[in-house]
Amino acid sequence: MPVKVASEWLNSCSGCEISIVDMGERLLDILQVAEFVHLPALMDHKYFGQLGNGKHLEIPEADVGIISGGIRNEEHLEVAGEMRKKCNIIIALGTCATHGGIPALCNSFTTDEIFQRYYSTESTDKPDTFPSESIPPMLDACYALDEKIKVDIYLPGCPPHSDHIFKALVALVEGTSPRLPDKSVCDTCPTQRKGKGELKQLRRFLQPPQYGSPDEPLDKMRCLLEQGLLCMGPVTRAGCGGDNIKPRCISARVPCRGCYGPVRQDGNQLLDMLNALASNGIDFRSLPERKSLLRFSGAHHLLRPAAK
Ligand code: SF4
Ligand code: SF4
Ligand code: SF4
Repeated sequence: MPVKVASEWLNSCSGCEISIVDMGERLLDILQVAEFVHLPALMDHKYFGQLGNGKHLEIPEADVGIISGGIRNEEHLEVAGEMRKKCNIIIALGTCATHGGIPALCNSFTTDEIFQRYYSTESTDKPDTFPSESIPPMLDACYALDEKIKVDIYLPGCPPHSDHIFKALVALVEGTSPRLPDKSVCDTCPTQRKGKGELKQLRRFLQPPQYGSPDEPLDKMRCLLEQGLLCMGPVTRAGCGGDNIKPRCISARVPCRGCYGPVRQDGNQLLDMLNALASNGIDFRSLPERKSLLRFSGAHHLLRPAAK
């Protein structure tokens, strides 16, 4: 009997689904042993029956349910609940599902403030008319999946590399638990590190880092953090390069923005980053956007001016 797989997207950009499709020919291997019974990105499967005559939202039963995106409105909540009811194992796919991801940046504003900003600025042609029909009511915030339903397996990444999705599905078909890298991006980064303490100030990423030429191998370039760029590699889970291992952004000579989330699922990536900067002797007052960063981390005391 093939393993039945259902997949859903909630507060998501569909990049995670592209990563599923990005398995390429390996999808054909998966299809030998698994059957997709529900996959809105690729299959036309309606919530209320194919002719729209159903009375309740219904998703077919499955052994494995893959959900991308966090939960922002009541429809997301209902779909997530139905997936939990119908699937034996739930995989949170992508950082929006595992931690809230980019859409959770909205959590520093109230829903009212977001609506005001979106519908009542000088650039909108019908100010103050908020849509009310056919739009699911918003929740008070954007939630990671496990804040609303039980999650069995976490596959972070924005999006997760298709190598990890493939391995996770193979593991589940074989009846074992998928394993994620438990190292940091720095642990897999080939750039040169000379040591701590030289750098006191960070700078905005407005100019490229220093390196010889575009053809020069990465191991000839100095670590981006040691060049004064805010690189989240020390506190971010490795794996974005898939089996190729090299971190994606660093390979493009761009600092890591932390999209794979904390090295441990329950880690506080921002607070850990502040600790990493402190142990490197960096003055917090040189942090770009430090007020919002510190507010998110709960480390308000670091906003105070240094004692004279
Ligand atoms: S984790 Fe990234 S790729 Fe996946 S839905 Fe969220 S924003 Fe899109
Ligand atoms: S801080 Fe960034 S550039 Fe430096 S080693 Fe870590 S991942 Fe690489
Ligand atoms: S280097 Fe960092 S931000 Fe870039 S893809 Fe990898 S984990 Fe994500």
